[in-house]
Amino acid sequence: MTQAPRIRLLTLFFVVMLLGLAWLSQPIMAQDYQRLNLELPERQINNTQSQQQTENFSPELREVRYTLQRNQGLGHALQIVADNGNLLWRIGRHENAHYFTRLRSGDEIIMWLTADDELARMELNRSPTLTYILEMNEELDKGMTIYAEHKEVKTRIVMASGEINDSFYLGVQAVGASPRTIMNLADIYSWEVDFVRELREGDEFTIVYERRYIDGQYIGDGAILAAQLHLKHRNRTINAFRFEHEGELLGYFNENGDNLRKAFMRNPINYTRISSRFQRGRYHPVLQEIRDHKGVDYAAPTGTPIYAAGDGTVKFRGWGRGYGNYIILQHAGRYETVYGHMSRFGKFKQGQRVKQGDVIGYVGMTGLATGPHLHYEFRINGVHHDPLTVEFPGGDPVAKELQPVFAQWAGLLNAQLRRTDPSITQLAKLFE
Ligand SMILES: [Zn+2]
Repeated sequence: MTQAPRIRLLTLFFVVMLLGLAWLSQPIMAQDYQRLNLELPERQINNTQSQQQTENFSPELREVRYTLQRNQGLGHALQIVADNGNLLWRIGRHENAHYFTRLRSGDEIIMWLTADDELARMELNRSPTLTYILEMNEELDKGMTIYAEHKEVKTRIVMASGEINDSFYLGVQAVGASPRTIMNLADIYSWEVDFVRELREGDEFTIVYERRYIDGQYIGDGAILAAQLHLKHRNRTINAFRFEHEGELLGYFNENGDNLRKAFMRNPINYTRISSRFQRGRYHPVLQEIRDHKGVDYAAPTGTPIYAAGDGTVKFRGWGRGYGNYIILQHAGRYETVYGHMSRFGKFKQGQRVKQGDVIGYVGMTGLATGPHLHYEFRINGVHHDPLTVEFPGGDPVAKELQPVFAQWAGLLNAQLRRTDPSITQLAKLFE
């Protein structure tokens, strides 16, 4: 790409973003930001919805719903319609017949019948945004129209903040975020924070995220645009700003443009507890002698998936004395990770490439182990490091040419995040 179009693109991107933000800064004000859950506004929206529906068609029409069972088709739904003799055949001749003939069990056909039980209208909600509609035209000698209606998804940006008390999940759920948003938030921070070991009661979070609506009805959450996690006990605050460029998600970055994603996952497994830490001179329970423990043991049930901590190649897959079934992954440069005591291997063979997060095997207790656990080692230039504390190389930071755009974007989002903090008003005022 030459310099001129790139600058033009950047400018365009900038304008679009600022327009978006002018709009964004509005809905986050007073009525959208709340520490309580968001039930009330939704109930109101539902009321107006049902009113709209009854106004849609003439009141003398009767609404009937039919859910298809296994091996049923449109003919079953139409049995309630009077004079349905050749109706199925006539629908079948329409150019859009497939909207109503390619059906599966569980599909709900909504029919509106006249006083004489003749079909006036039929609908099938194929997805939240796509409805198939059939309308009978009395004037046109019982002709019919079959068409698709696409609904627009509207996004509102809301902000919520709260405190973690019982658990991270409950804390975020209490402010009205969907399970998906909770998982997304955990994902965004999973590289920086170990949710099992590091979160404490009283830690705080703030999220700016999208809520999606069709016809004013809430259908689910969209992306998290910005988040802040405040680990009170460690006096540490971690910001995360979503950054997209030309429609592509580049990732979540902190205010300095550092990628929150690292080249390695801190824990290559969802574990129940850490049964043994990295240490020099540990009494080995099976060998019954003093040895260094050169990794971390994660206790987890047999069969728990083990993930590749980072992108790399399977350098070794096989049996080792002590390790049992084990795998060594070779990562870019000088890094190696080792996974021991597996009950069985995943699909990746020696020499094959793996991506971060691929399942390379399953927890077991092969080799020298007293119970099912993953023995995990992290080596740099062949030297063992503590996997729980070693500094990981980061993912790609914001590219140099995008830094000015990112700085603007992060600055605006950061101002929104800080609106919860009464001591900071200066920055936020700029966007009111
Ligand atoms: Zn171990």
